[in-house]
Amino acid sequence: MRYDKVFRFLLFAFIIGSALGLVGGLVLGGERHASAHSTKAPAGKGKATTSTTAADKAPEPMTAERARAIGANELGMVLVLEYHKITKPEDQNAPEPDYCRSALHFKQDIELLKSEGYYPITVKELATGNIAIPAGKSPVVLTFDDSSPGQYRVLEDGSIDPECAVGILQAAAKDGTWPMKASFFVLLDVTPPDNILFGQPDLQQEKMRNLVKWGCEVGSHTYTHLNFQKSTSDVIRKELALSKQKIEQLVGGDYQVYTLCVPYGAYPEDVSILRSGEHEGVSYAYKAALEVAGGPSYSPFSTKFDPMRILRIEVQHDALKRAVDNLKKNPDLRYISDGDPAVVSVPASTSEKLGNLADKLGRPVITY
Ligand SMILES: [Zn+2]
Repeated sequence: MRYDKVFRFLLFAFIIGSALGLVGGLVLGGERHASAHSTKAPAGKGKATTSTTAADKAPEPMTAERARAIGANELGMVLVLEYHKITKPEDQNAPEPDYCRSALHFKQDIELLKSEGYYPITVKELATGNIAIPAGKSPVVLTFDDSSPGQYRVLEDGSIDPECAVGILQAAAKDGTWPMKASFFVLLDVTPPDNILFGQPDLQQEKMRNLVKWGCEVGSHTYTHLNFQKSTSDVIRKELALSKQKIEQLVGGDYQVYTLCVPYGAYPEDVSILRSGEHEGVSYAYKAALEVAGGPSYSPFSTKFDPMRILRIEVQHDALKRAVDNLKKNPDLRYISDGDPAVVSVPASTSEKLGNLADKLGRPVITY
């Protein structure tokens, strides 16, 4: 009997001791793990996201060795390209007027981007840092302003014009190496009416829904192409609220407009009016806004990135070729993806032109 009691006591003590040791190990181990990262995100969070969103592309956890082998630099600059009219083939040989890109040149732009290792994302994906592209590729954003017919035209037989931007983007996506992704900033009430939602009144809703269904972003360019510098705060709020509401109604579902393209790049004195506000009970919020010029955009992970002033390159003449060549000559300035959107990978030393890594990225950072 006595031995039995001693045995029970020892067993009890062993179980309690083991339990305490396990709990202590978890707490201490967890803290040690978290403090090894410079970001404030819990270390486990990034791994959990990796396993759900990027499991197919990056089954192994990202390491400094892999990031180095890829040459990842997610503090590098991103090309955000700005297009207006895409013109018909018969205009091909004429000199390109301002705000125009011929269908032929647009096709060549995409071929150039494909061959130089670029991969399309939307403005929202850039601004949120949700850049899910293959390892070694560079993101590029194609933006279209003013919803003119050459951007999205349906022919009489119901097919999409192969010489409009959407037709060209669809053809480019056929080989499976280039998803059909772009961001369209539409107008809702302007003269000429050709610029109202791509100019075919009966097809407006169908076009808006298709764009979102295909993976494109539709954002606001205000209702009437409003010049914020020549408008009262009341009118600015009205157009920001109603354009967002109208686009969301047309697209339907739970679609939410995220980005505003500022007409003429004419920012109001107080940018906070763009961020959020209300007009007659309709509230709005924009989390990203586009400039009309400025060159390559900073990385969303850089201290220099301002989501309300995203820089763009207007694609005219040889502007795209020059931008691509410039990043080729200065590869340390170019954003190169590590292939894992849940982790930010950067070289230990980067050009000061890129700014510094921002705080609170919400993702683990790997430096090499
Ligand atoms: Zn415009």
